[in-house]
Amino acid sequence: MKTNPSDFRTLFCGMDTPVPTLSGATLPYVNLDNAASTPALLHVKDTVNQFLTYYASVHRGTGFKSQLSTHAYESARSLLLDFVGADSQTHLCIFGKNTTEAINKLARRFPFSEQRNIVLISQMEHHSNDLPWRAVANVVHVRLLPDGRLDETHYDELLEKYRGRIALVAISGASNVTGYINPIHRLAEKAHHAGAQIMVDCAQLAPHRKVNLLPLDDPAHLDYIALSAHKMYAPFGSGALIGRRDIFEQGDPDLRGGGQVEIVTKQQVVWSAPPEREEAGSPNTIGAVAMAAAAAQLAQIGMDTVAAHEADLTAYALRKLQSLSGIHIYGDPRPEFADQRLGVIPINLEGMSHFLVAAILGYEYGIGVRNGCFCAHPYLLHLLGFSEEEADQIRSQMISGDRRNAPGMVRISFGLYNSKDDVDRLVEALHQIRAGKYIGRYQQNSATGEFFPLGWQTHFEDYFTFHPNGGIA
Ligand code: PMP
Repeated sequence: MKTNPSDFRTLFCGMDTPVPTLSGATLPYVNLDNAASTPALLHVKDTVNQFLTYYASVHRGTGFKSQLSTHAYESARSLLLDFVGADSQTHLCIFGKNTTEAINKLARRFPFSEQRNIVLISQMEHHSNDLPWRAVANVVHVRLLPDGRLDETHYDELLEKYRGRIALVAISGASNVTGYINPIHRLAEKAHHAGAQIMVDCAQLAPHRKVNLLPLDDPAHLDYIALSAHKMYAPFGSGALIGRRDIFEQGDPDLRGGGQVEIVTKQQVVWSAPPEREEAGSPNTIGAVAMAAAAAQLAQIGMDTVAAHEADLTAYALRKLQSLSGIHIYGDPRPEFADQRLGVIPINLEGMSHFLVAAILGYEYGIGVRNGCFCAHPYLLHLLGFSEEEADQIRSQMISGDRRNAPGMVRISFGLYNSKDDVDRLVEALHQIRAGKYIGRYQQNSATGEFFPLGWQTHFEDYFTFHPNGGIA
């Protein structure tokens, strides 16, 4: 078992891959965009490779390989339920593509009534935990405090104000913008007390902290969670909705097709029991196996070990970032509280476009970050402190096709394999950028806002090709 932070790196694919930079030198790539997607664990790759030898159709096949594949797929469900402390008597695991799909499924399948048709969400949600609810319910947003945390007093007020009408609270376990961790079990207890259920978007939380659904008879339990494997070191196109069995035993599935029925006549359909009922068509067996392999390894390392390493790294990064003049760190900048949030740090450099900073980091320093609004427009506007008037003005510019001044930040986000060396490389690069020491002459594309260095050409086919005799160079 690896518990030494310097060993974590050896567990992952593609560490220190040399990438080209503008000066002509190659540099080992530093990936600081883990809140978007994470690299694969070697264990995931090895498990998939091992499984591919036996891979065959699941559920309906009669041969040995089909039976083994079905066994692997169903075992993956059990493993994921265990990983999040779910009881298979009360909860089930429905595989799908990602968190977005999981939340959309719940939105379409949740038994709203005329009386209970409100979904309480927060203003810090990723669009994936906001837009699906708008399509099926009345959405009420919980306000945020000035520092971007959930305003729990407002949450309490809204639960009281709409008592008897709130069907569901849908809230992120942790923010993909500030890394704030919401007090999900306390929120759950209050939601249940108000007669509502709770869905926690665990896209960010699950790869970094222990998630525990708790038994249904515990008032602080979670009714549903959504997960994405590509954020959990298993990028094979899978995700999961883990949720209460009882609601999926009622009603029709949202998608219809093969693999989910007992009987079909010209007049009648008898659906299979869930979770099969909810998984129309052939499933992503490889994705499910990969996701379970990642969960198994994270569990073996121990989520407390993961959290401790990432908190240490985050504290180190916050301390070093603060040495930069003209840096604005959004959210909580205090290193001593790094263990109470995830390693997601959004910044801006004074007087510089976030588009430009991100471009220079990529083209000249071999550092991958993300910039923009991170699919959380309402949250970004809150953190950036835009007035409605300013926001309107920028929106109309953007709608007219000019994104040069699109608001945003540069987001640094850590994964388990990141090291203090990565932080040093980042902070040194930011110092250079601040001092105007970059070599590219950058031009902004007004339609996208992105900056490109003049004269730069990337030959991706030198690194990767689909040609049968090619492969990875
Ligand atoms: N919720 C949160 C908090 C996220 O960070 C993301 C991805 N950035 C999503 C939902 C959506 O995840 P996916 O794109 O995998 O569906």
